[in-house]
Amino acid sequence: GATAPSHPLQFSLVPSTSKRVQAERESILADPGFGQHFTDHMVTIDWNIDGGWHDARVTAYGPLMLDPASSVLHYAQEIFEGLKAYRHADGSIWTFRPEKNAERMRRSARRLALPQLSVENFIESIKQLVAVDGDWVPSAPETSLYLRPFMIANETFLGVRAAHNVGYYVIASPAGAYFHGGVAPVKIWLATEYSRAGRGGTGAAKCGGNYASSLLPQMEAHENGCAQVLFLDSETGTRIDELGGMNVFFVHGSDTLVTPRLTGSILEGVTRDSIMQLARDRGMTVEEREVTLEEWRLGIESGDITEVFACGTAAVVTPISQLKGAGVSIGDPDAPAGEITMALRQELTDIQYGRMPDRHGWLTRL
Ligand code: PMP
Repeated sequence: GATAPSHPLQFSLVPSTSKRVQAERESILADPGFGQHFTDHMVTIDWNIDGGWHDARVTAYGPLMLDPASSVLHYAQEIFEGLKAYRHADGSIWTFRPEKNAERMRRSARRLALPQLSVENFIESIKQLVAVDGDWVPSAPETSLYLRPFMIANETFLGVRAAHNVGYYVIASPAGAYFHGGVAPVKIWLATEYSRAGRGGTGAAKCGGNYASSLLPQMEAHENGCAQVLFLDSETGTRIDELGGMNVFFVHGSDTLVTPRLTGSILEGVTRDSIMQLARDRGMTVEEREVTLEEWRLGIESGDITEVFACGTAAVVTPISQLKGAGVSIGDPDAPAGEITMALRQELTDIQYGRMPDRHGWLTRL
């Protein structure tokens, strides 16, 4: 069944017969960008309602064959995850808190009526892929191999119900440094016309539909010179929820870190949790609570809010200089990156890249 504990799966390997040669791989790794190039292999695990998870395998990367009536194409029964593999100076490859992504994917699966993969099988699927495609983990500063596990309903059926056939996949994509020429503060756009999530909706799940609905306001953000869109809670339109793909933090004075509490409409970021821990380690007070737009405006005016930043796996920590929107402007577009923001960013990446002891046991060797 969908929630029965799954046994450790045995993975088979059918190596790709069209692996790219070293020179081609190295030219890609020299300037990988983000999400454009993919490694030579992928993981697939099938699930059906009678047999549970089965046929775990690593095969050549390539197109999926989907029936046009496959339910994911119509009703968007899909979830995904995002985490990274980091190469350390000694050449070893590590990932960061994969159990958190595995657990989040289980929660997303429950919300989308998809079967849950065990934490052990999730982590094993990543190990299996990196075992064959480890050469695709770049080694330049701030680069990584982005890992994208995802799950789709692939039953050939147009009835609206939870699918009886599901596929879980892992693909991997080398990622360049997010910021070229140093971390630069970004402006963000306040969505006033559109919401991301409502009460009882899917905001806390990492499902494709959430991102589909964020694209229009995200376009609006770009048209207004902003990097990302900020969503308010949909019930009152007064509280800060999160960005389209990142969580948001406020530094008050020099010793307090504030972030919106998890209400069910916010995605529980792994970076968010890690940043809160690192702040506590530094002796900061960390508050998860309601944050209103008004508090942000008044805090900047009074000087009580000294720094604002966003965080997520892709960009790690990004300083926010200004919030803009219809009739709204908070902060200064020329504000430099905050000191605490940059210190937390440095500390987190130092742990991820093995430059600092992993005192919380956050790293898993791949
Ligand atoms: N919020 C949203 C909506 C996201 O898509 C992401 C990226 N997964 C995050 C927050 C940050 O989560 P994480 O730190 O786990 O990458």
